[in-house]
Amino acid sequence: MSVAHTIINVGYRSTNYWVISAGKSRLLVDIGWPGTMGTMSANLERMGVPLSEIRYALATHYHIDHAGLAQEFKNAGVPLLVLESQTQAIPLMKNHIKPQDGYVEIALDGNTTITFAQSRSVLAERGIAGEILQTRGHSDDSVSLLLDDGSVFTGDLPPLSIAGDDSMVAASWRLLRERGATRVYPAHGPVRTLPD
Ligand SMILES: [Zn+2]
Repeated sequence: MSVAHTIINVGYRSTNYWVISAGKSRLLVDIGWPGTMGTMSANLERMGVPLSEIRYALATHYHIDHAGLAQEFKNAGVPLLVLESQTQAIPLMKNHIKPQDGYVEIALDGNTTITFAQSRSVLAERGIAGEILQTRGHSDDSVSLLLDDGSVFTGDLPPLSIAGDDSMVAASWRLLRERGATRVYPAHGPVRTLPD
């Protein structure tokens, strides 16, 4: 089955936030800086993405520039898609955020928590052809979204060229290549082809 997805960037402050769309069914990958819902909402509107069409928000990992608005999206009706391997990282977020940052703490209830093995069918229910893979290296809770067309959303997984001999990073890239990744959409910097 081949499905045409569109991919747009609604990012700001040197961070890419990706919206993957299958028609009007959309997925947000990485979820803003704390206290910036106004900027995020304006970017979504400018790019023609109604909040009501976002079926899930997924954080590649729970660092502040990747999941800072997760609870606000939940409050606005966008479910938070969490991998089981990420649940422990969620409560730790607040330790890295100052009170004046305007962070709304992510509640542990109301999340859609799944296993990696379930990811393909959960995404397929929303018209997205792909899977979520565990890609540790930058952090233990890091995951990547790999679409069947080879597009992969890798968050902060460092490029191999700068990772040196970090074997965990190398293993993550090997997994992504084996599963067919060809085009990398990182959380910071430009889109690039794989291998780079
Ligand atoms: Zn990070």
